[in-house]
Amino acid sequence: MARRSLSFQKVQAWCRRTNGDWALGKILSTSGVESVISLPEGEVLRLSTESLLPANPEILDGVDDLMQLSYLNEPSVLYNLQDRYSQDKIYTKAGPVLVAINPFKEVQLYGNDYIEAYRRKAGDNPHVYAIADTAIREMARDEVNQSIIISGESGAGKTETAKIAMQYLAAVGGGSGIEYEILQTNPILEAFGNAKTSRNDNSSRFGKLIEIHFSTTGKISGAKIQTFLLEKSRVVQCAIGERSYHIFYQLCAGASLSLREKLNLRKADEYKYLKQSNCYSIVGVDDAERFHTVLEAMNIVHISKEDQDNVFAMLAAVLWLGNISFSVIDNENHVEVVADEGAHTVAKLIGCNIGDLKLALSTRKMKVGHDNIVQKLNLSQAIDTRDALAKSLYASLFEWLVEQINKSLAVGKRRTGRSISILDIYGFESFDKNSFEQFCINYANERLQQHFNRHLFKLEQDEYIQDGIDWAKVDFEDNQDCLYLFEKKPLGLLSLLDEESTFPNGTDLTFANKLKQHLNSNPCFRGERGKAFTVHHYAGEVAYDTSGFLEKNRDLLHMDSIQLLASCKSHLPPIFASKMLAQSANVASNPYRSSAADSQRLSVATKFKGQLFQLMQRLENTTPHFIRCIKPNNLQLPAIYEQGLVLQQLRCCGVLEVVRISRSGYPTRMSHQKFARRYGFLLLENIASQDPLSVSVAILQQFNILPEMYQVGYTKLFFRTGQIGALEDTRNRT
Ligand code: ATP
Ligand code: MG
Repeated sequence: MARRSLSFQKVQAWCRRTNGDWALGKILSTSGVESVISLPEGEVLRLSTESLLPANPEILDGVDDLMQLSYLNEPSVLYNLQDRYSQDKIYTKAGPVLVAINPFKEVQLYGNDYIEAYRRKAGDNPHVYAIADTAIREMARDEVNQSIIISGESGAGKTETAKIAMQYLAAVGGGSGIEYEILQTNPILEAFGNAKTSRNDNSSRFGKLIEIHFSTTGKISGAKIQTFLLEKSRVVQCAIGERSYHIFYQLCAGASLSLREKLNLRKADEYKYLKQSNCYSIVGVDDAERFHTVLEAMNIVHISKEDQDNVFAMLAAVLWLGNISFSVIDNENHVEVVADEGAHTVAKLIGCNIGDLKLALSTRKMKVGHDNIVQKLNLSQAIDTRDALAKSLYASLFEWLVEQINKSLAVGKRRTGRSISILDIYGFESFDKNSFEQFCINYANERLQQHFNRHLFKLEQDEYIQDGIDWAKVDFEDNQDCLYLFEKKPLGLLSLLDEESTFPNGTDLTFANKLKQHLNSNPCFRGERGKAFTVHHYAGEVAYDTSGFLEKNRDLLHMDSIQLLASCKSHLPPIFASKMLAQSANVASNPYRSSAADSQRLSVATKFKGQLFQLMQRLENTTPHFIRCIKPNNLQLPAIYEQGLVLQQLRCCGVLEVVRISRSGYPTRMSHQKFARRYGFLLLENIASQDPLSVSVAILQQFNILPEMYQVGYTKLFFRTGQIGALEDTRNRT
């Protein structure tokens, strides 16, 4: 509407180059349907006028809040962010959301001087510090818990951003010393939960919420960490060029001589689990040095030397488990564990009898009818059993570590004051092949998106109401349908997955067929050929391949393995075993279970859904602050800004949605004073009253701004998209 009425003569406009990128061109002439445009490098294009998008006046170049743009079209947003990025201004506001573009280099924006400036409110550029500062202030002012919700795709900078926010909170709320402990949880969790992937050398393979508590006097009094969905499979397999969890390489490179002897530790390339991906080091990272940082951090969060040794023994046990091999003993492919160095070392490290270990890895106790039998495993079953044990050991270790950290950071009994939670969670993922992990992650993102939308709308509405203007509700794309698709009982994705996972004869194919049978009428769902299905997510369509879904959802560790751990003499395995048993009600009493008993355990998806609900409930009771991290290129290099890549992320993380929501309302706001000051001189006739409101209204009338294009609030004028642009043009011509 407004866009078409704009005169394009002198103005610049956005036009698409043949490669799809947007370029800012000068309109040389326009004949209605066709326009002639000259590009900065001299090229002249003939394009349909329809395809052009209006550009913002120059005074709006590089504004620090996208909402100040008169035209909120995609190229304008992209250009504005790029303009700032090229000057190391990596932070920009999009209304209530902070957009952070990964600089992939050190930028001079952090440290005590900056912290001090934001604390004194002297720093007025958008910044993580400003967000953290607002959170602290609103926590104190409103006595409401706060949350800082950070999202973005892998490598976009979420974890770094979370640390920057923590630094600020620690600096401002510090004093008791506990803040230092809180900061030291980062190197530990990163060592155990991060890994080099093809997209990020330090990729978090788990989601994390850290709740930082403050006393009534505003000092940090403790913290609590919750983690989500650690990627276990990485322990036993990872792609070429990627690594397993950092801590394995750190241990191999940095352990002291005595520790190496105690654990029978070798170099990383002697362990099959680490060897398979043929990648041992990360450019610019010294694993041995990092190991010492982790040791130091463990000391600081009060993990005793003894416990540290227990932890390392478990890590070595996992590595040695991978080296255990099997020999086939009969023509049915049944196997026996080879009692070599691998098996002996594992038995020693976890503190079990080697005979028990061999049995647990090569046989399974079963109940068939009324009979208890012992079944021999074939080679692939034995390998799966071994790998499942390694994965469980590692995941249990991770959970246990988080528990220890939480004990150390625990808020005292006097639960006074309030908290600020920081959520660093994987963003929406869509790859060529999408599996169970993406399914869970994207489901989580649907939930978060709903939270985001609701909050945003409320804010938008509140501002209009506060300023006393009419606010006919603007529709926004609700993702409730997609959430129903996942959560509906009994015919939703999650319920059907669980149901199929409990059927002994269920397979990935029967699961896929069941989905097609029951969900085809849902607009967010589409069955595909074979084992695939597509979900229409808020951020786009994702095709999932159900291969491995049931297995990953069941996540079985057989009772034989749990019992083995329970029988161990070293410290941690029995603790892990009792945890696992507690999660699988009823099965403890009978070691010879029927396979149905396995299903008593919560499935991975159900457990995740429970965690997510809990998380959402917690977040509902907080005032949220959103940070959207953007990765400007896939090369992890500075100064490269790929428009297409950025655009796709802006769409996925809802930034363009914020922009869209605002565009359907009155995105441009200016106080009466500012408006009168800026455009008052354009008035042709003197008016009686010089008060800003009267001047403003006279300007609006003189310029024939249509009534549906603006609203006059108590303190501000609200304009539809583009209106200020037109005024600016006149002002510049004058
Ligand atoms: P993942 O989802 O894989 O965990 P992420 O979003 O947490 O990814 P980070 O690990 O935080 O991504 O960032 C990736 C890398 O980008 C960092 O290791 C760092 O090199 C760089 N980086 C991110 N933010 C900044 C920043 N503010 N300043 C300098 N470098 C940064
Ligand atoms: Mg991360």
